[in-house]
Amino acid sequence: MSQRFIKNFSFHEAVDYFRETGEKEYRAKQLFIWLYEMNADSFDVMTNFSKELRNRLKKEFIISPLTLRERLVSKKDGTEKFLFETRDGQFIESVFIRNDGSDTGRLTVCVSSQIGCQMGCRFCQTAKVGFRRDLQTAEILDQLSRIRRVTGLKNNNVVFMGMGEPFMNYENVMKAADIMNYSFGFHISARKITISTSGLMDHIERFIDEKRPYNLAISLNDTVSEKRKLYMPVEKKYPFAKISKLLREKLPASKNRVTIEYVMRKDNIKPEDAARLKKMFKYGRIKLNVIPLSRGEYDLEVPAADEIDDFIKELESMNIPVSVRKSLGSDICGACGQLSGKKYDL
Ligand code: SF4
Repeated sequence: MSQRFIKNFSFHEAVDYFRETGEKEYRAKQLFIWLYEMNADSFDVMTNFSKELRNRLKKEFIISPLTLRERLVSKKDGTEKFLFETRDGQFIESVFIRNDGSDTGRLTVCVSSQIGCQMGCRFCQTAKVGFRRDLQTAEILDQLSRIRRVTGLKNNNVVFMGMGEPFMNYENVMKAADIMNYSFGFHISARKITISTSGLMDHIERFIDEKRPYNLAISLNDTVSEKRKLYMPVEKKYPFAKISKLLREKLPASKNRVTIEYVMRKDNIKPEDAARLKKMFKYGRIKLNVIPLSRGEYDLEVPAADEIDDFIKELESMNIPVSVRKSLGSDICGACGQLSGKKYDL
């Protein structure tokens, strides 16, 4: 019998497993505490399980599906980048961010949800890898386990903004988010877990309708549909105007908080863009997060610092709640897909 990844179990699947193998159901909770709260990397340490049970679990399951291949630490801001290899020889990356530069403030892990990505965004290195496969739940969760073990720090924030479009791997991502959230899992508040999407409207609707308690981040990047199509092909199938309408209809009855992500290029930060942004949303639980394009890659032009300042002032003058995301880890292949891209000869 080939071994399975034990972190693929949802809590209910773990309960079923123990019941079906003649064990007490409470073993599931004990197992989760060992795997996530205690971050155990071996069944041998699970001393409240009988030796017989430990041996059986050892035979049937693998705890850690990822091997750490590279760890880069930014000298500028302490951001850390991790390259992991999966059991089938693929590469994914995750980022550990000290948001205020210290070990005691907000600590964020940015996780990957797929190997490569099929969405084809023009500004993205991961898009160049192409789509290889979805990550299993265990491979998503193990990114946190490994990073916690290596850094010795417990992150209190998670963003699904690494490689992949999380909504293309909906089931596994939601299962992983739930386990991150459980008090006997990683115990991270639902308000500190953010799922990011390029704008898959059907899935956004499903996410809201299912009352998933997590934050949602939607990448907009352009207010003109024809231009957005050039940078984000998803616009062809799901025009952002429709997503905006959906949010207007659905959000009032939901508890989700939504952030609109907007990478600032030289050609999308004019006063007209700010005016269109103002019109697009009923701000309230929707916030705008602007991110300066860090390099003039992919024939995109980086705006000057004063152009960025003017745009932000314009947004603020319109009472749009706006936050500016700092570019972190620029000395360690900061952008998603750059480190693994090296493994794929990009
Ligand atoms: S930006 Fe995100 S959705 Fe777009 S290609 Fe890159 S990984 Fe995929």
